Amino acid sequence: MKSHAKVVVIGGGVVGCSVLFHLARHGWTDVVLLERDELTSGSTWHAAGGMHTINGDPNVAKLQKYTISLYKEIEELSGQATGVHLTGGVLLAATEARLDWLRGVVSKGRYLGIDLEVISAKEAAELMPLLDPKQFVGAVRNKEDGHLDPSGVTHAYAKAARKLGAEVERFTKVEDIVRRPDGLWRVITNKGEVVAEHVVNAGGLWAREVGRMVGLELPVLAMEHMYLITEDMPEVADWNKKTGTEIIHAVDFDGELYLRQERGGMLMGTYEKANKVWSEFQTPWNFGHELLEPDIDRIAPSLEVGFRHFPAFQKTGIKQIINGPFTFAPDGNPLVGPVRGLPGFWVACGVMAGFSQGGGVGLALSNWMIEGDPGADIWAMDVARYGDWATMAYTNAKVRENYSRRFSIRFPNEELPAGRPLKTTPVYDILSARGAQWGVAYGLEVPLWYAPEGVKDEFSWRRSSDFDHVAKEVAAVRGGVGLSEISSFAKYRVMGEGAAAWLDRMLACRLPKPGRMTLAPMLKEDGKLIGDFTLANVGAPGARDSEWFIAGSGVAEQYHMRWFEAHEPKDGSVRIEALGQKLAGLAIAGPKAREVLAKVTRADTSNTAFPFMAVARMDIGMAPCLVGRVSYTGDLGYEIWVAPEYQRAAFQALLTAGQEFGIGLFGSRALNALRLEKNYGSWAREYRPIYGPLEAGLDRFVAYGKEADFIGKEAAVAERKQGGKLRLRAFIVEADDADVIGDEAIWHDGVVRGWVTSGGYAHHSKKSVAMGYVPKEIADRPDGFEIEILGKRHAARIQAAPLFDANFERMRA
Ligand SMILES: Cc1cc2nc3c(=O)[nH]c(=O)nc-3n(C[C@H](O)[C@H](O)[C@H](O)COP(=O)(O)OP(=O)(O)OC[C@H]3O[C@@H](n4cnc5c(N)ncnc54)[C@H](O)[C@@H]3O)c2cc1C
Repeated sequence: MKSHAKVVVIGGGVVGCSVLFHLARHGWTDVVLLERDELTSGSTWHAAGGMHTINGDPNVAKLQKYTISLYKEIEELSGQATGVHLTGGVLLAATEARLDWLRGVVSKGRYLGIDLEVISAKEAAELMPLLDPKQFVGAVRNKEDGHLDPSGVTHAYAKAARKLGAEVERFTKVEDIVRRPDGLWRVITNKGEVVAEHVVNAGGLWAREVGRMVGLELPVLAMEHMYLITEDMPEVADWNKKTGTEIIHAVDFDGELYLRQERGGMLMGTYEKANKVWSEFQTPWNFGHELLEPDIDRIAPSLEVGFRHFPAFQKTGIKQIINGPFTFAPDGNPLVGPVRGLPGFWVACGVMAGFSQGGGVGLALSNWMIEGDPGADIWAMDVARYGDWATMAYTNAKVRENYSRRFSIRFPNEELPAGRPLKTTPVYDILSARGAQWGVAYGLEVPLWYAPEGVKDEFSWRRSSDFDHVAKEVAAVRGGVGLSEISSFAKYRVMGEGAAAWLDRMLACRLPKPGRMTLAPMLKEDGKLIGDFTLANVGAPGARDSEWFIAGSGVAEQYHMRWFEAHEPKDGSVRIEALGQKLAGLAIAGPKAREVLAKVTRADTSNTAFPFMAVARMDIGMAPCLVGRVSYTGDLGYEIWVAPEYQRAAFQALLTAGQEFGIGLFGSRALNALRLEKNYGSWAREYRPIYGPLEAGLDRFVAYGKEADFIGKEAAVAERKQGGKLRLRAFIVEADDADVIGDEAIWHDGVVRGWVTSGGYAHHSKKSVAMGYVPKEIADRPDGFEIEILGKRHAARIQAAPLFDANFERMRA
């Protein structure tokens, strides 16, 4: 074993081998994979080997498509058979709601280049002869489904990597990982030590234990999973003989089952409701090539449905039941990327569908390590989407929920209950008493809307029980004044002698003067967005030690702190702190907002003393606050930041003062309706790391000519010159009873040309609005657009000027 390497990959399952292969293919050949046993000694060897392109997140779906396309290449490179059978498959719907969901999947597939087609249940039965068409209402055909040999694929990655110069050390167990003062990692094994610049934790079933070696508690947990293999079936033999093809894959969502042919019989797996966690706290090191005891009672309810939906199973015997463990993150997507605070330590774990996702994970991680960027939008897999709040007990609750809902529909207005409430703000009980319906962001309870007694969300793809109530919240804001809780924003304090110079380099905007705020895009080296913030200069004028306040996307707190800290000066001249819930937030908005504020503070709130984008410390009632004159509603409004111990007092003061103006509470759904009619985008929806500021319409906040050499300046200047490729646009959709959710296809002149990032109903303007990206060549054509909602194309037109207050008179009044 070598004593030094650029990279040590820990774990020889399908994921670690894929990472090794991709690093070597990308040119890093001084890389070694350490495996404590034979390759495939975790979850990999007993996998059912199914592969699919479909994923709830379109960017993960793209990487799944890449994974499947890779198998031919690694087979050729390695000379090792992968056993790939590209049979195609059917995704089955037993209810209309499921068919609506599948229609959405097809719409996404259109712009991802995934060939999907809605077919009838009868047509599905012609493709998959074992199903009873009477049990289903329709299906989707996917030509890219199939299965493979898990061990063959893993060895093919490893052999291909070796041919490119990488090394694999089997029977080499990593026992400890220690960071040296010079930043290199000592990887200590039972056979000696390797010193490496980078370490990748691809420990699969033992990812938690490997993480603990560096003081990291990763939110992953293993679940037991069962599939059965039947005796040979005459129906299968007949079909094979008659058509010369295998029985295709089937996913029966309502039965919570997946099926495929296995030799002369069938394989049927299930994500059962009565699921079981495996090795809750610690994975035993002596677990290897072994299976768990099957428990047929646990899967009996699913099998009962399966036998009804696929009657041929009733007449056949079960040859074997496989029960094995594999790991999940709380939301079921992988955990990939660099870990905040541990430079050179990377993770590629929690991969629950290694044969659909392993290739994409390897590609993204190797790009990230070598180029400094994953090269794709992998937010849905980024380890930074979780923070310390994702504790072991939280992970346990969420993973169990996620497993039991693996094939369940999640409606766009459906909030999942497990692991909640976890983080709450001081006004939580007050808002609950007023009917708040709660959602969750980054572990924090967030009010979505306020329901009268006895009303709650009815889960639906269409406009639902909240519609009229959200309309009233919107009317309160536009007609007078609304009050909302905005603690879910991420808040940062930046201080120190070097703060101004550092921010000038980190952010693409011009820095505001003391007492002023600005919108602040943050770019990567390639000139694409990595953040969009509100930056406030809250330091005393002329002070040496300047102080800055930044508000940004709450879900991206860890993501942005990782970026900030990676670029922090080493001399201590800048101090950056994520304030999390050390600071709570409230907002008031609407034409009467100033009058409300004026009643609760002695500060001068006139437009001259406190104009648009001003920021100041002022007392609200008895509570000391930081108040910024800015509002995501696009109306006259204020964002109020307050220490949590004062939040209730500030809230009560505003509510009482607002009574005479008919103040109403509004939640995040009303805020969505309000921002849509202002064409305002938001991070993780419109603004993501694959778009440039010009494409995203944020170029007006980029100070291309400023003196400071901000990160991404050169690329941003080039984008401006060349014009980029895409444009973010707002569309008015001729919708009926359903609005866009996100990820729908945008058609132009009968061809799919773009995708929706978000949307909804703008209650004040009474219009259905969608925001999305289209190629710049068609971005100024007002007509010819259609947006697909639930399988139906609706006429849409570009709304260039905001529907509400296009001249910004209200906002600046
Ligand atoms: C019953 C069942 C059916 C499944 N069916 C499918 C399917 O149809 N399709 C699909 O895509 N996925 C399926 N999966 C999931 C799939 O198996 C996993 O997604 C995949 O195997 C994860 O691979 P991995 O490399 O991340 O982890 P693992 O396979 O667990 O590999 C981790 C490796 O790291 C090694 N290791 C850990 N710690 C150390 C250390 N300290 N030192 C050295 N080596 C170490 C282990 O020995 C192990 O070999 C199934 C899983 C099960 C259990």
